[in-house]
Amino acid sequence: MTPTLRVCALYPDLMNIYADRGNIQVLRARCAWRGLGFELRGSSLGDELDSSAHDLFYMGGGQDRDQIAVAEDMAATKRDALHAAADRDTAILAVCGGYQLLGRSYQLGERTIPGVGLVGLETVREPGSRLIGNCAIESDLGGGERIVAGFENHGGRTYLDPGERPLGRVLSGHGNNGRDGGEGVRRGNVIGTYLHGPLLPKNVWLADRLVELALGIELEPLDDELEEAAHHSARRAAGV
Ligand code: GLN
Repeated sequence: MTPTLRVCALYPDLMNIYADRGNIQVLRARCAWRGLGFELRGSSLGDELDSSAHDLFYMGGGQDRDQIAVAEDMAATKRDALHAAADRDTAILAVCGGYQLLGRSYQLGERTIPGVGLVGLETVREPGSRLIGNCAIESDLGGGERIVAGFENHGGRTYLDPGERPLGRVLSGHGNNGRDGGEGVRRGNVIGTYLHGPLLPKNVWLADRLVELALGIELEPLDDELEEAAHHSARRAAGV
């Protein structure tokens, strides 16, 4: 039977800054072009989650204001289901504001916003300007080392616990905190990154890898001439 990728977008109405919804469109297209099924559900404020009903959970970036509303709700209504999903190796991709909420907490001045604690990390809004600009990293998520290119814009600085692995090593840009050379996080099939772009249109190899991780299958390559051009343009913007 043809597999179907069942995607759940978390808070698609609130966490979608920088056209991060384009990531979903790429996943849909990559599946359709290969004859795979694709199903999309959304889950927002107050909605319970069925941890076994999805192969991939996706969450985009957001403004601090939206993140505050989302964080409380996510900790209250979705934390347990997300942990159960991660324990079952369900794929989870979170971008920027979504990524920050994968950790223990996001400290914003006097206020500490809860995360769901899927990975050991903390984010702190430190004094200093926002970390903004084109960014490129090298990641081994695709087997060998491959480049992920995108655009970052975050006030929060993220610090991984010892023992957690970043998604990649910064080649150009700021990454998690502008200091330690790491960008994003990866634990099993849980992936967080600061890279917008949107991320997946600029890095279709990563979209394919996510589909593979989510469905436990291997994909045949597609004719990606245009997608490769988009990837190289994002790399050039980052000077890589
Ligand atoms: N509000 C968060 C920050 O500024 C995340 C921003 C984003 O998602 N681009 O750090």
